[in-house]
Amino acid sequence: MFYTPPPRDPNAPPLRINLLSDTQTKPTPAMREAMAGAEVGDEQTGDDPTVNLLCARVAELLGKEAAVFMPSGTMCNVAATLVHCRRGDELLAHETAHIISREGGAHAALGGFQITQLKGADGQFTPETFRAALHPRSRYQPTQTLVSVEQTANIGGGTIWKKAALDEIVTIAKANGLITHMDGARLLNATVATGIPAHDMTEGWDSAWIDFSKGLGAPIGGVLAGSAAFIDEVWRWKQRLGGSMRQAGIVAAGCVYALDHHVERLADDHANARALARGLAQINGIVVQEPETNLVFFKPDGAGVPGDKMVAELRKRGVSLAMMDGRIRACTHLDVTAAMIEETIGYVREIVRAA
Ligand SMILES: *Cc1c(COP(=O)(O)O)cnc(C)c1O
Repeated sequence: MFYTPPPRDPNAPPLRINLLSDTQTKPTPAMREAMAGAEVGDEQTGDDPTVNLLCARVAELLGKEAAVFMPSGTMCNVAATLVHCRRGDELLAHETAHIISREGGAHAALGGFQITQLKGADGQFTPETFRAALHPRSRYQPTQTLVSVEQTANIGGGTIWKKAALDEIVTIAKANGLITHMDGARLLNATVATGIPAHDMTEGWDSAWIDFSKGLGAPIGGVLAGSAAFIDEVWRWKQRLGGSMRQAGIVAAGCVYALDHHVERLADDHANARALARGLAQINGIVVQEPETNLVFFKPDGAGVPGDKMVAELRKRGVSLAMMDGRIRACTHLDVTAAMIEETIGYVREIVRAA
């Protein structure tokens, strides 16, 4: 049901407001122009200059030695964890993590390693919870190899891990011989919201990646960064998974364009998310989680409208969003304006009034 819009009613008004996901952004005319004019080569042999530029830019941004261009964020997670973990190893992550429930079981199917699900509010576990889940190396327990966090935590509400907590997780991990991985699908939302540079957020993390096909507005791509030796190993998995590309500079150019033009503007998405949350919270019975970035989770049940009914009613009015883990998630992005937010709040009010 994830990311799956309700079936299209042929008589429904056209979709005008897309709050379903920041993956729904369309490349802007200027981005398309940058893509059309991209210098290209063979990506697989390292000869695509635009891909090389993008990887160098992201490696620098994240403070890592090297980086690799991937077709998706999912492939960044899959390849990174496959490099870090052997069969029978144990990875620790929050129970809502994308790697657990939204990557087709890649860790089990391809890696043969298991994931211990850590609990905690807002998609985050505390350093104490992490520490408590560690066990001494022994003959009869799995080897604990890797700890992974999401910055921002998607299902947690787009929440931002505090720098101090990230540092503490790294310190505990290193003291216990664990590798650290940051799923930074929306890392730049966190850096824009806090003013903390990305390389500070990823400091001490062995691998980290950012997604370009979410709020950054590019059509395709994620870039995974780490040590040169790690990226070498990732390349083997990229090849195995069928992720090596040819004239990928065409799409990488959209990502470079996004780095130059679409990072600072993430603040607009955050402002729109706050405005949406404020408007929804003023409607009696609607429970809203205060957004920290561009994701707004809310429950309308208290207003007499079950979540799926609200989603269906909004869709009839040309607004698309979805239920996610029992709540409605609205996602602001490049193609969502402040006026659309006001219009959506008006519809929700109207739907609640009619109930
Ligand atoms: C979207 C997302 C991914 C996967 O990225 P895709 O580019 O959609 O494959 C991984 N982790 C998190 C936290 C995400 O939100």
